[in-house]
Amino acid sequence: YFRLRHRPVQVGRDPSMFLILVQDMTEEYNTRRMREDFLQNASHELKTPITSIRGYAETLLPRITEETPHRFLEGIVRNAERMDRLIHDMVVISSLESRAYPFSPEAIDMPAFLDDLKLLVEGSLNQKRQRLNINATDVRDVFADRLLLEHLLVNLVSNASRYSPEESSITISVSRNARGRFELRVCDQGPGIPEAYREKIFERFFRVDTDRSRKEGGTGLGLSIARHVARIHSGSIHVEDAPGGGACFVFVFSGAGPLKA
Ligand code: ADP
Repeated sequence: YFRLRHRPVQVGRDPSMFLILVQDMTEEYNTRRMREDFLQNASHELKTPITSIRGYAETLLPRITEETPHRFLEGIVRNAERMDRLIHDMVVISSLESRAYPFSPEAIDMPAFLDDLKLLVEGSLNQKRQRLNINATDVRDVFADRLLLEHLLVNLVSNASRYSPEESSITISVSRNARGRFELRVCDQGPGIPEAYREKIFERFFRVDTDRSRKEGGTGLGLSIARHVARIHSGSIHVEDAPGGGACFVFVFSGAGPLKA
């Protein structure tokens, strides 16, 4: 596997003489492939026992009425679910990092896309009686990778829900800024992010409050994946204060297709 280091450069005056510099990438490619294969295999091996642990515990749950064993079983189910999410996020992050992800942007009708997303997340928001507002009236087609965009938004909305109080509101809005770039915002009414952590939270496994995040079932990878998703769209993601307190995650990207991978 070879990579062209730069464009061919003409040498001297002879138009048929060019200098081409190529780099042998075989070793890097093989290392990447090995890491990717290892993770795929490891995730498959882990998923099987976790699914069965979860299955046994879920089957026992309705049969156990005494409080303490019931609570323990619930703990087993909750943690098995968390490990499932962790494995899934690790596979996603590995494929984004190794650039193995088949990035395929397409024109997305934003209002329709966000309506579908609402159906997807509403069930879990209902548990905390939270409301999801969508504000995307001025925007129609946006060029993006549908699966990644969905993954990013589900992650941001799930964070907004987990870290915000019951009966609070979460707002997704899409608009175009003065430079014609799209701004996708997910704002909540939670505690917000202290200034000192606004970059750190995008690092893998970094948490502002480790105990709380674990208790809420987070994998510690959501925002790191969000940053990868932003980068692959040649965009960026950062966090701001929401107008009435709370956090606003802002994904800024071109959205005008077709994009280059
Ligand atoms: P986790 O699975 O721990 O939520 P993330 O990568 O999604 O991992 O987020 C990293 C950390 O950023 C979280 O542990 C939490 O401390 C903080 N965080 C993320 N979203 C929010 C939010 N909407 N409100 C407050 N804190 C948040």
